[in-house]
Amino acid sequence: MRILVIEDDKDLNRQLVEAFEEIGYAVDKAFDGEEGHFLGDTEPYDAVILDIGLPEMDGITVIEKWRREGRNMPVLMLTARDRWNDKVSGIDAGADDYVTKPFHIEEILARVRSLIRRSAGHAASEITCGSLMLDTRTSKVTLDGNPIKLTSHELRLLSYMMHHQEKVLSRTELTEHLYDQDFDRDSNTIEVFIGRLRKKFNGEFIETVRGLGYRLIAPGNGGEAA
Ligand code: CA
Repeated sequence: MRILVIEDDKDLNRQLVEAFEEIGYAVDKAFDGEEGHFLGDTEPYDAVILDIGLPEMDGITVIEKWRREGRNMPVLMLTARDRWNDKVSGIDAGADDYVTKPFHIEEILARVRSLIRRSAGHAASEITCGSLMLDTRTSKVTLDGNPIKLTSHELRLLSYMMHHQEKVLSRTELTEHLYDQDFDRDSNTIEVFIGRLRKKFNGEFIETVRGLGYRLIAPGNGGEAA
């Protein structure tokens, strides 16, 4: 999973970035509305945290522009306590949720997890694929009830695939959701991570769709490559 944090308060920006990195997300950051808008317009994010009061371009304008341009990733806005009208304008402009400052970081984490799940069509916080289960609250993975130990990159990759199971995902798409913009990307590493995951899942669950990419699918659930 990869998210974008747009917040001009440097301390708050850093706290948010660190909190999401800690739970295994790739995180990009911006400190003004223009830079934030540009990133959201050009990079594929699973969710965006957007402060409303920003220099260069305010948060409401940023959302309006994205939605007009057809960018539909989930957006959680951060609003000041005495600015109730910002919430109305923000939601009308296309934001999906809001949190009022000051907030507890746990609330932001929970709301973003929920937005990402819901935008991928999952209501419950436990996402299953056959006997494979990802608990999005704790980032723990089990297979037949037994915990599976994963590195942070393996977890990030699997989490994206669990959210988008049964869909064919290209290496480019997986790479884009695995790394932040500063990372020196190499789409060949996806193959390495896929290989490691397969080994941990006894060769099941991840199917190669030749020339197109990979698909996470429960064994016996139409598992033949399309
Ligand atoms: Ca601000």
